[in-house]
Amino acid sequence: MGAQLAGRHVACPAAGVVLAFRRPVRAPASVTPLRALYDAAGRGPSWLARSLAGRRITCSGLVGSVPSGAAGWLALGEDVIAPCPACGGDHDWPVGVLAVQAPCPPGTFAVATLRGVLDLCPGAGDAAGMGGRLALRDAAVVAP
Ligand SMILES: [Zn+2]
Repeated sequence: MGAQLAGRHVACPAAGVVLAFRRPVRAPASVTPLRALYDAAGRGPSWLARSLAGRRITCSGLVGSVPSGAAGWLALGEDVIAPCPACGGDHDWPVGVLAVQAPCPPGTFAVATLRGVLDLCPGAGDAAGMGGRLALRDAAVVAP
């Protein structure tokens, strides 16, 4: 009889209430500012970006087309960005623009929040014609 009782699941309503009360509230996924992903010179990843490498992060910005015109890629910046009309390059773009690979990219010039994997591997943004920029891969829109 004692063995049967030992294997019984004991539910205590009071303990359940205390546990539920002490459980931390899950905050919505925080948005990482685009500029914070680049170092002070704007040419390489910041310490924050290095700490987030290979992890899924959320970024918000304005959607622009990429210099290469590759399908499934977009440029995400804090301001309106478009390839240079003379050469099609990204040389006049500000710091903080991400090359984003998204299977279902939002339309250009839209404000979008995307969640994807931060890829710091050299050449990650080459397909977009944005070799000098950081890349977000396998991204999906999480908010308009
Ligand atoms: Zn140009």
